[in-house]
Amino acid sequence: RYCQQLLHNDHTDASIPPIDTSLMNGYDPELWRALQREEFELFYQPRIDLRRGSICGAEALIRWQHPERGLQTPDSFIPSCEASGLIVPLGYWIIQEVGKTLPAMKEAGLDGRIGVNLSFRQFQDRHLAPTIERLMQQHLMDTRTLEFELTETALCSDEEHVRSTIRQLSSQGVEFSLDDFGTGYSSFSLLQKLPITTLKIDKSFVDGIPGNPDDEEIVRAIINLAHNLNKQVIAEGVENRAQLEFLIRHDCDQVQGYFFSRPVCLEQFLSLLNTNRRQQAL
Ligand code: C2E
Ligand code: MG
Ligand code: MG
Ligand code: MG
Repeated sequence: RYCQQLLHNDHTDASIPPIDTSLMNGYDPELWRALQREEFELFYQPRIDLRRGSICGAEALIRWQHPERGLQTPDSFIPSCEASGLIVPLGYWIIQEVGKTLPAMKEAGLDGRIGVNLSFRQFQDRHLAPTIERLMQQHLMDTRTLEFELTETALCSDEEHVRSTIRQLSSQGVEFSLDDFGTGYSSFSLLQKLPITTLKIDKSFVDGIPGNPDDEEIVRAIINLAHNLNKQVIAEGVENRAQLEFLIRHDCDQVQGYFFSRPVCLEQFLSLLNTNRRQQAL
């Protein structure tokens, strides 16, 4: 069992570093139990390539199947996991889970990357880069199928090891995107220095297009900035056709949002991929 491995440090393949037991007292016991009982589940929200008009990957979004309270969304438990540090072992579980399911996604025709959210807190674990590398090897993950989504907060820290971790993984073929772009404190020099391949326009700006002149201008500016820096740009939270048309008109590369699909369970995502492949073949 994954958590036993973490606790007893007796794992033979040494893929996952032992848990820092000095931290454990701070974990929410219910969340710690949820990880041990594997009550977490990854949902996937497709990303749509606007030029090809097809699915070009997905974002993995965690859910908690609570035995009594039912399906819980991350806003109700991720902040606590970040505060206590439980996000570190949970984060490895997430990557492992993506690794286990990638073969089925490839089989269903996945052509693109799976985006995994990475909290600032996960960089405080010094084992982050080597552990991700080992997990990728263990699950024979093609590094070109993985992309980590970072927020501006993670990058603005001055810690050199955050940057060197990103560079190390990037040299292995893993890509990085900047999530919720425009809502944090990005410095343009960081955008230039770090191997960030994609900007994700925050939903709060997408909400105002078309119609709100400020949001329209911000969205256009982010698309231009991304392209001028040779990066891809994804709009998050696209809910209607008018937003989609605005984004197509302004040359956005990809979209994600309820207009195409909510985040869905693996089984449903695989069937979306299969449908997508059939349509591509026509
Ligand atoms: P995020 O990474 O910015 O993810 C996008 C959020 O927007 C997701 O919420 C998604 O379900 C939601 N969304 C997508 N399209 C639409 C839309 O058209 N309309 C509306 N109203 N919402 C839309 P979710 O799944 O609740 O996740 C919330 C946040 O929790 C994520 O924001 C991310 O910061 C965090 N999170 C989720 N999964 C993970 C994870 O595996 N690890 C970590 N560290 N954080 C995660
Ligand atoms: Mg994200
Ligand atoms: Mg986001
Ligand atoms: Mg967010």
